[in-house]
Amino acid sequence: MKFDVIVVGAGPSGAFTAYNLAKNDYQVLLLEKESLPRYKSCGGAVSLKVKEIIGDIDLNNIIEDEVTKVVFTHNFQQPIDIDFYKPFTYMAMRDKFDNFLVKKAKKAGAKVIDSSQVVDLTRYDNQYRVKTEQEIFTTEYIVGADGVKSLIAKKLGLMNDLEYGVAYEKELKAGEERLVMQRGIIHLDYGMIADGYGWVFPKGNNLSVGVGTFKDGISLKKKLDVYIKEEGLSDSQVIRAKGHLLPIGGDKRQLNTELGLVVGDAAGLVDPLSGEGIFYALKSGLLASQVLDSVLSGRGSLDEYTELVNQQILTELKKAKLVSKIFFPFTKVAHKLFSKKEWILKQLIKIIYGEESYDDLYSSFKAELPFLRFKS
Ligand SMILES: Cc1cc2nc3c(=O)[nH]c(=O)nc-3n(C[C@H](O)[C@H](O)[C@H](O)COP(=O)(O)OP(=O)(O)OC[C@H]3O[C@@H](n4cnc5c(N)ncnc54)[C@H](O)[C@@H]3O)c2cc1C
Repeated sequence: MKFDVIVVGAGPSGAFTAYNLAKNDYQVLLLEKESLPRYKSCGGAVSLKVKEIIGDIDLNNIIEDEVTKVVFTHNFQQPIDIDFYKPFTYMAMRDKFDNFLVKKAKKAGAKVIDSSQVVDLTRYDNQYRVKTEQEIFTTEYIVGADGVKSLIAKKLGLMNDLEYGVAYEKELKAGEERLVMQRGIIHLDYGMIADGYGWVFPKGNNLSVGVGTFKDGISLKKKLDVYIKEEGLSDSQVIRAKGHLLPIGGDKRQLNTELGLVVGDAAGLVDPLSGEGIFYALKSGLLASQVLDSVLSGRGSLDEYTELVNQQILTELKKAKLVSKIFFPFTKVAHKLFSKKEWILKQLIKIIYGEESYDDLYSSFKAELPFLRFKS
């Protein structure tokens, strides 16, 4: 059978692309190498700004917690509590969250095949042949939603110069008292690791504790053990421990060819300050499906996808990259500043849920830290 679009990878970017296309009656195949639902190493923070792109999809049944408060520390010292008194981030288990979107895609009419790793992609005439370990499929258009080390991006000749960070996470079974104390609250520590941060996130009956950095050569396992000790969680049972690469977003690149494009991590769309990737995975999936819809209806070209991502995602991530370059080398100074001017941290949270932009934060940094040199 020939498909209009084959989407490779059933994370949020792929599942949401497939869902939107299937809703519009296109013949869509979603291929996933793992058996679904699949585990994904992730903090599971899904910012409330996803609401603006998921439309009428109701996430209520898959939300483990709603975050209203953050405690920021610098190298485990000087806590600054920022209470928003209203949710700004959902917490989700990625196996449930991603599979929920896959089920939506299936219900909308997409064909989903899991345990099916794509091993090759070849173009002939005006179509692609997609080879899995078991079968060969043909398609008019191909979407690479296959994550940070995307085979599809490689085959399309895209994303050659992507840079990576890395994050390592443990899911802990903490005691009841700690779980209750942590409900609705996240802890973020910068200063304990260069160019990154540590986190404690509540996830229903567990806690996600992790460290991530955009710098090379750091032993994350050791850093995480120290962080877990400082958080008083050394006695907690470890349910899972896993690390994964993070693409560093913020640079404009070509994200499509004539008949193919990349979304989510495969397109390098992770916020270089916060590490947030789920929102950008969903947003790029939505943009991809809109452009594919036009092209399949005989209007325009896939180049519009790269333009839209540049305008609607990368302009913002570029600012995030600038802020990260200013913030990470000076976390100590910044933390002192934040303790006097909590509104800067509030602004950061407003960016997370979509009420403000990195432009606003960038301007605040410029105004407050004039001794630093800023380049746009
Ligand atoms: C430790 C850690 C913590 C994080 N915490 C957060 C957080 O709290 N909030 C947040 O917003 N972001 C977080 N991120 C980033 C976030 O996880 C990613 O940005 C997000 O998963 C990107 O979604 P995606 O659909 O593009 O890719 P993925 O979720 O990586 O999905 C890609 C899929 O493609 C499949 N695949 C790969 N190759 C093939 C192939 N050849 N054939 C078929 N299938 C294939 C994979 O199995 C996978 O299911 C974190 C990342 C890490 C590493």
